[in-house]
Parts: sequence; C-alpha cells; structure tokens
Amino acid sequence: METEKIIYEKICQQTSLSYQFILAPDRKTEGIQCLLCGQISYDPSDVKFRFCSGCDKFHS
Ligand SMILES: [Zn+2]
Repeated sequence: METEKIIYEKICQQTSLSYQFILAPDRKTEGIQCLLCGQISYDPSDVKFRFCSGCDKFHS
C-alpha cells in the first residue's frame, strides 16, 4: 500500500513537470519544450495548447 502511494506521487510529479516554457535565441519567441522526449516547438498554437508533436499529445 505504501509503495503504491509513493509510485502514484512520483507519477503526479512527473506529469506536472512534463514540459517547460522556454525562450527562443531571439529572446522574443516563446517556446515549449517537452521534458519527456526533449522536443522543442516555437509554434504559438503548440505553446498555447501545450502540445508536443514528438509525443503527439497534450500536456496537462
Ligand atoms: Zn514529447
């Protein structure tokens, strides 16, 4: 039981940290990087909807 709880909390932490917002080298364009596959996208709609084309899914 205790082990299941720890695993569940780890999954929650990983889920909440599955992406990060970054700045492009021009320091103006906002981008999003997926921490699961490393994919970086500067597409405004990908940033807006937190979509990763590498994983083909939306981050929560
Ligand atoms: Zn990804």
